[in-house]
Amino acid sequence: MKARFLVPLLSLAAVPLFVFTGLQPEPDPIPADAPAAISSQEDPSAVITAEDMYNRIYFLASEALMGRDTPSQGLEAAAAYLASEHRRLGLEGGAEDGSFYQRWPYRLLGPDLAAVSLTLEGDAGHRSLEPGRDMAVRGALEGTLDAELVFVESTEGDPVEGSMEGQVAVFAFPMSEGWNQPTRQMAQRQAGWAAASGAVASLHILDDEVSGEDLEALTQQLASPGRVMGWDLPFPQIFVSGTAAADAAGASALPALEGRIAGEIPVEIHDDAHPPNVVAMIRGSDPDLRDEYVVLSAHMDHVGTGQPMNGDTIYNGADDNASGTAALVETARAISYMDEAPRRSVVFVHVSGEEKGLLGASWFVDNAPFPVEQMVANINADMIGSDTHTDTLVVIGKEYSTLGPLVDEINDSMPELGLVTSDDLWPEQRFFYRSDQYNFMRMEIPSLFFFTGVHECYHRPCDTVDFIDPDKAARIARLLTLSVLEIANADQRPEWDPAGLAEVRELTGAGR
Ligand SMILES: [Zn+2]
Repeated sequence: MKARFLVPLLSLAAVPLFVFTGLQPEPDPIPADAPAAISSQEDPSAVITAEDMYNRIYFLASEALMGRDTPSQGLEAAAAYLASEHRRLGLEGGAEDGSFYQRWPYRLLGPDLAAVSLTLEGDAGHRSLEPGRDMAVRGALEGTLDAELVFVESTEGDPVEGSMEGQVAVFAFPMSEGWNQPTRQMAQRQAGWAAASGAVASLHILDDEVSGEDLEALTQQLASPGRVMGWDLPFPQIFVSGTAAADAAGASALPALEGRIAGEIPVEIHDDAHPPNVVAMIRGSDPDLRDEYVVLSAHMDHVGTGQPMNGDTIYNGADDNASGTAALVETARAISYMDEAPRRSVVFVHVSGEEKGLLGASWFVDNAPFPVEQMVANINADMIGSDTHTDTLVVIGKEYSTLGPLVDEINDSMPELGLVTSDDLWPEQRFFYRSDQYNFMRMEIPSLFFFTGVHECYHRPCDTVDFIDPDKAARIARLLTLSVLEIANADQRPEWDPAGLAEVRELTGAGR
């Protein structure tokens, strides 16, 4: 970037002043390996080599990082490496307060069974409920519960009608076949209806065929802790034995238990994790455009360790997605060497939690360090390094916005890259909605997905650096760099195709 190359001596000279005033600032980042500044006449992407890509993937996919699960020490090591690299290249932290880290809550929690206490109050009197004997609970509740019970006739089909604000929705819950896929889905539907109608909890009355042993097992199963993104507790569901419900309601009232329920379902936090997204930025050079952002994303997490295959338990995730991660750092490196930064700001987001359901990207757009309306485009790189399809980059989402033709045009002008930018080869798989670009599209930011397809080592321990075609990955990183520069320097921001946007709105079910 401009200022750094023009005044390196000045920034060095400033260091002793800070020492004298007793402050201990972090030293200015000064790139150790920067070539002479790349002029706007040159191709900045030419600095990206197969060796550069290989070296980055080699580390990110190493056994030491243990498959970069979210959350894990391996993920933290990947994040520290990425933040360190961006810092060394002279980028700014792009998260809040100039930090390179945006951390998001991902707590492991469940109901604190030992502290759960609930009492039913029906026509026949009070009945206290004991976990394991009379009830199983899932989710948790802030504060105390004291709510009217309202029986909901339907177990299938119609959603709850009208508001149940502050009430507890009561459902009959036939479970003669046990806790299986259909009953799990029924529980989910009933809780979904209850939550959507404003109820504070759902209460599911089990039929009498559920034995004491089954209820005990169900209690342990439902209370087992799970990871939750954010600060909201999972919706509380209370499964009550038919006997206990009958005691409170009077046998004849079943399943129409009416009355009240009071008590507590406190939460137990088993692990208070806050995994990182790493966010780095190259500030735009045009005062009129620098508050617009071209956002590149690639998930740095993978699935951690798992089922051994040939004795190997570490799922290295070299293609998925050390490859896209490395491409982002190389793009940052190439642009950082330019003698003038692009007009718009360029943001590099290394998200976590992709493998858990695109969580880090979801958190990023919902808690963005700058206005979402100012993000003009997203290109997401996920799995661009496998040694299959040597010369093909599948650019998914081309027909949705002006970004598609732009990337095609750049690729056509760069025959030395030897790449074919293919349309989506697998539209039936809906990959456009299955990686991190989804969350940018949800915010109606024009997006593209750089991808080279799934393969035999997809989510298997053999997705190692040996499986990578570093030359292909480097050529894709170069195309990414040139695409970003074009978007960042264009007079106009990218635009959706109206039909593409309509489809995205329908399928994401949300907007800004
Ligand atoms: Zn994956």
